[in-house]
Amino acid sequence: MKIFNTLSRRKEEFVPLEPGKVKMYVCGPTVYNFIHIGNARPMILFDTVRRYFEYKGYEVNYVSNFTDVDDKIIKKAVEEGVDAGTISRRYIEECKKDMADLNVKPATKHPLATEEIDGMLEMIGTLIEKGHAYVAADGTVYFRVKSFPEYGKLSHKNLDELQSGFREIKVTGEEGKEDPNDFVLWKPKKEGEPFWESPWCEGRPGWHIECSVMAKRYLGDEIDIHAGGEDLIFPHHENEIAQSEAANGKPFAAYWMHNGFLNIDHKKMSKSLGNFFTVREVGEKYDLQVLRFFMLSAHYRSPLNFSADLMEAAKNGLERIITAMERLRELKEAAKEGELTPDEQEGIRESDKLTAKFEAAMDDDFNTADGVAALFELVKLSNTTASENSRKAYIACLEEKIGQLCQVLGIITERKHQVLEKEVEELIEKRTKARKDKDFALADQIRGQLLDMGVVLEDTREGVKWKRL
Ligand code: AMP
Ligand code: ZN
Repeated sequence: MKIFNTLSRRKEEFVPLEPGKVKMYVCGPTVYNFIHIGNARPMILFDTVRRYFEYKGYEVNYVSNFTDVDDKIIKKAVEEGVDAGTISRRYIEECKKDMADLNVKPATKHPLATEEIDGMLEMIGTLIEKGHAYVAADGTVYFRVKSFPEYGKLSHKNLDELQSGFREIKVTGEEGKEDPNDFVLWKPKKEGEPFWESPWCEGRPGWHIECSVMAKRYLGDEIDIHAGGEDLIFPHHENEIAQSEAANGKPFAAYWMHNGFLNIDHKKMSKSLGNFFTVREVGEKYDLQVLRFFMLSAHYRSPLNFSADLMEAAKNGLERIITAMERLRELKEAAKEGELTPDEQEGIRESDKLTAKFEAAMDDDFNTADGVAALFELVKLSNTTASENSRKAYIACLEEKIGQLCQVLGIITERKHQVLEKEVEELIEKRTKARKDKDFALADQIRGQLLDMGVVLEDTREGVKWKRL
């Protein structure tokens, strides 16, 4: 298996630290809002990477954090007049619902930054002891970038270049830095913010330290794969390397994987630009399996532009796969027992070749685009060679092969009835009319029907409102 490693900028053969095992850390979202479909891209892709390792027989320990202390969370909490924990807990739950709808497996562990403060204090203490960090007059602790000569090795930046870029910049509140490249490990509390005791000041951690600490705690000092979106290469991952390697004295992650951006009108989708769709919004229009399939249609390192056309194409593609699987399941019921015919034996050989083609694509830096193409060829083989006259064993073999590849891609092949906004609105309209006509039995029946679909109605002065259970 080959993986493109951001560290070397080359595809490298994957050699696990421990045979048969993969230790993988993926940076998770900051939870102050519903996740957008840009955030969903790494979730879907690295879940697929995990599934492929599992398919190949590896045991994967997959850790992905939630950043639950951050300026944006605090801002939102102040706006709503609640504490930061209320905001982060709410959006962690919402994010987990979205992940389930996208068929993203829960991580082996989803650590929360606020529950790992003791580990952060310990690592910061070690860094200070070893001379890699220092405490400024106001109690802020900074990482001393110059103490780590390899700084820049992931982002391929040169410290001197960085230095000249920073020369003029003096960030208010960071006057205590020895060097403009130094970054915060621990900062003093501000009025009204959550804070923790520490040997340096009452305060809270910088963002980068949380991932170094969680990776160490749940996976160990050395891990196989560290992943996230390409916006995290610098400074986040560069800083993680500096912290972890300086504190642990060992190489941190062997392979660094970064996904390209999900764009809209060829610009990165982001909360700060406001050009985003939440997963929830897209889920109102499409089954979220379509979104997953859309993401897998491109290579993970390429930029991907979100568009209605591509989503329609994904929807049709997915439909083809699901229809083929449904047909196989029906055919299997009626199929004959008995020895495979020579044509069927040939069909099995062809399906083996296509499975091998899928694996070759995935072995080549997880080329899901080519993997999906091989899956379509398998679907075509099934549509053209399986029939009422086929042997049961032949149908079962095709069903198993297509099913296995779908499992790797995280595609559910059972047709699930997705309740769409349009459907709900139509039923509500019908119920409103029934009530106007004083047909209360019908109105109640429709309310019950909607409830069965997981939709509750609320009659308000402004009209009928509805929400999903
Ligand atoms: P954030 O909540 O912004 O820290 O992002 C969580 C994860 O989503 C990180 O791995 C980001 O790199 C990734 N991400 C954010 N926006 C996009 C985007 N438009 N396309 C792809 N990945 C993104
Ligand atoms: Zn991280």
